[in-house]
Amino acid sequence: LLEVAGLHKSFGANHVLRGIDLTVPAGSVTVLVGPSGSGKTTVLRSLNALEIADQGTVRIGDVSVDFGTKPDRRALRTLRAQSGMVFQSHNLFPHLSVLRNVMEGPLVVQKRPAAEVRAEALTLLERVGLADKAEQYPYQLSGGQQQRVGIARALAIKPRLMLFDEPTSALDPELVGEVLAVMKDLAAEGWTMVVVTHEMRFARRVADQVLFMDGGVVVEHGTPAQVLDQPEQERTQRFLHRLN
Ligand code: ATP
Repeated sequence: LLEVAGLHKSFGANHVLRGIDLTVPAGSVTVLVGPSGSGKTTVLRSLNALEIADQGTVRIGDVSVDFGTKPDRRALRTLRAQSGMVFQSHNLFPHLSVLRNVMEGPLVVQKRPAAEVRAEALTLLERVGLADKAEQYPYQLSGGQQQRVGIARALAIKPRLMLFDEPTSALDPELVGEVLAVMKDLAAEGWTMVVVTHEMRFARRVADQVLFMDGGVVVEHGTPAQVLDQPEQERTQRFLHRLN
């Protein structure tokens, strides 16, 4: 479903991505791990055209963008519409109810009919266990509940692919589980997901593929058992050793 080839990105003199290749089959879960600053977030943001890569291609389904040829805004918008993104902190609109937050994308960006969008948003809130919070405002929810609204909001645009950027790392430990549980359900339902996380237990249980990144390259990739339990590369071994 997703194919990335030769992705490069610099911020000024800082060459952050140095040739990233990545293949994500439909219905699979890919987890990106690696030390801080290795470029994981930049990869994710490039998939969604929140960062504009300098070189390389990203293909999602039948939508393909070649960053080497300075894609126009329309191409970037089309690429962006293919994926739903969940950020480290929720980014909900504080002045809108939970329900309106979930409705915002389909209503305002996709300009779909309100009644239909509302019904779908309620279904999505039910799915993340928050049907009873529809009329509340973000500040009335816990961090874990806010993240679950963030997931419902990303799903609302009916993306082909879900991207998660450290969705639990800003949460109190006791709230992490409820967010991971929703993500696990989505994986079980067959969603294609790319997840940046430090939650190794989640990676072990849910990922089909784990990529270890360091210094802007994919150092190694494989099943969770291969990469997390029997890494071949010394850099991966050192990283995992530090975590334990
Ligand atoms: P972390 O786990 O800390 O989030 P990461 O692996 O996700 O790390 P990135 O956030 O992708 O790493 O950052 C990689 C490098 O790119 C870092 O050196 C960072 O300072 C730099 N960087 C990221 N975004 C920008 C930006 N918008 N402008 C300038 N430099 C940036």
